[in-house]
Amino acid sequence: MQLSVQVDERRFMSNITRMVSAPFKTITIRDTMSDLPDIRNGAKAEEISYQGDPQSHFQKLIRGRQHQPILRDHICKDMNALVHARMQHIPLAPGSDWRSLPNIEVRLSDGTKSKKLQYTHHDKRNGKASNGNLRGVCSCAEGKQCDPMDRQFNTIVPWCLPHTGNRHNHWAGLYGRLEWDGFFSTTVTNPEPMGKQGRVLHPEQHRVVSVRECARSQGFPDTYRFFGTILDRHRQVGNAVPPPMGRAIGLELKKSLEWKAQKEPKQEEEESVKEEGMEIESKIEESPVKAGSSKC
Ligand SMILES: [Zn+2]
Repeated sequence: MQLSVQVDERRFMSNITRMVSAPFKTITIRDTMSDLPDIRNGAKAEEISYQGDPQSHFQKLIRGRQHQPILRDHICKDMNALVHARMQHIPLAPGSDWRSLPNIEVRLSDGTKSKKLQYTHHDKRNGKASNGNLRGVCSCAEGKQCDPMDRQFNTIVPWCLPHTGNRHNHWAGLYGRLEWDGFFSTTVTNPEPMGKQGRVLHPEQHRVVSVRECARSQGFPDTYRFFGTILDRHRQVGNAVPPPMGRAIGLELKKSLEWKAQKEPKQEEEESVKEEGMEIESKIEESPVKAGSSKC
């Protein structure tokens, strides 16, 4: 029975109709990529071994039929020493992002040392921290003009994020990790922890997502080849219409053309009889509906 609700004299019906099949289950990040081997920040090896069997039905399908299974494009952008250190300090807990970064000095992989972020100004909007410390990082926090001298570099907590956080929902999601039990946000053309969509860190490894992980998020089979630099490959993946969606649209178009073809021949027949008398049969065969449906 269809759900309905009565308000005064009017009865409102739900616009949800039954489908012929059950809705699809969500495919999680784990379903998508838990079988891929660990790699490091900046991994470059274009062809490696899977090092194990698929762990989900999705992984089994996405690996495709490969004669000699080779994992390609499981490569990721090489982020600089500071960004790498930040990624190493993002906790593995679900939902973590830059706001979980500790304000500490650390030795970076290039030998230099990062600095602590200094809170130098009063933040008019947020007030003081619970221990009475200041929370602003620029004179604009006090309502004045920005002072270029207030800018800080080489800090684990990126200065520019608290600087403009009040205007940008505290930059939620930047330096964010994907969650094993979550799902992919929109696939980006260039995974960048400080980008508009900054939830691009692997759930457990201290690196941004690989080309192969992004390709899988779009439904590309592992046998599909990408070319060019790593950025070119990310762009090819990010700009693509997801292949399973293209397929679904194609199948629906085919269905609707077939449905139309079933309904329409009668009308055409009548018109054809009037106009051309005996040439009915050949006319029907040439009709665009039929040609279209056989192509799909
Ligand atoms: Zn400022």
